[in-house]
Amino acid sequence: MTDERLVIIGSGPAGLTAALYTARANLEPVVISGNQLGGQVSITYEVENYPGFPQGTTGPELVDLMQKQAERFGARVVVDEVTEVDFRGGSPFTVKTYSETYEAKAVVVCTGASPKRLGVPGEDLLIGKGVSFCATCDGFFFRGKDVVVVGGGDSALEEGLFLTRFADRVRVLHRRDTLRAGETLKRRASANPKMQFVWDTVVEEILGNGKVEGVAVRHLKTNVAERWPTDGVFIYIGHFPNTDLFRGQLEMDERGYLITRQHQMTSVDGVFAAGEVQDPVYRQVATSVGQGAAAGMMVERWLAERS
Ligand code: NAP
Repeated sequence: MTDERLVIIGSGPAGLTAALYTARANLEPVVISGNQLGGQVSITYEVENYPGFPQGTTGPELVDLMQKQAERFGARVVVDEVTEVDFRGGSPFTVKTYSETYEAKAVVVCTGASPKRLGVPGEDLLIGKGVSFCATCDGFFFRGKDVVVVGGGDSALEEGLFLTRFADRVRVLHRRDTLRAGETLKRRASANPKMQFVWDTVVEEILGNGKVEGVAVRHLKTNVAERWPTDGVFIYIGHFPNTDLFRGQLEMDERGYLITRQHQMTSVDGVFAAGEVQDPVYRQVATSVGQGAAAGMMVERWLAERS
């Protein structure tokens, strides 16, 4: 058991910014990385809308810089995963990981969100065998191949465009006939000769024996079902918040997002939250950083009032 003033759960932009602010206030925060050091943005290839980088940057570069900056002031990033928390008795709180038990006067929850699955046959079985949620990680394996991207939002188009660097054809399957994505990405995707759009269509099954060989699709307006050969299926249909650890302990909305009231405070006094775990609306690196900074400032004030 180690005694800490502050444990930050999660190492994405929100967690690393909360770490930077609280490290500069001499709180020596411990950041538990979670299974993805740097969070979702660390598997995003291009980041064009984070201020301060006029030429754009990459997700891995951005989180690496954020981590170094927080560590320079005394934050400690531990590569580990939280398995259990106990917030029920109030401060100090218990945070258990695979290798340690922390007792912390305050906690900031920055566990982010994870990609949603389609929930169709074949999907789970073929993850890593042609089914992917990360073009940046897996795109390289599809050089000269045919891939399908599911979804009509910014992620589907951005990651689909990235896949055109490798694949010969990228078909975007969308359940409606209007994209949810913003104008810039729409324009870039429509202008790319390797991208094709398939409207009003859903995937009903991912086909393949040991690797993806095709998709069974249905056109929603005609009800026509077809089977198309393809080598890869990239799924971008939104996210769900990573809040299973906190069920029954922190107040959540009906979708599982943590409810933060004033000043990033959750329903438990001394437990703060920042980033996508409590934000179903903005979900940008820039907004997560802002929420992380706010949480960092408020937790510092909260601890100062109690010391
Ligand atoms: P999103 O905006 O929620 O889009 C999800 C897409 O998946 C929608 O087109 C939705 O269809 C479709 N979908 C949802 N459930 C489905 C299902 N069961 N079967 C088939 N299709 C399904 O998610 P996102 O694209 O990941 O973006 C999330 C947020 O991050 C957004 O605010 C976005 O602007 C932001 N983002 C920004 C950038 C950027 O600025 N460069 C890049 C990536 C993400 P409907 O349209 O019919 O609902």
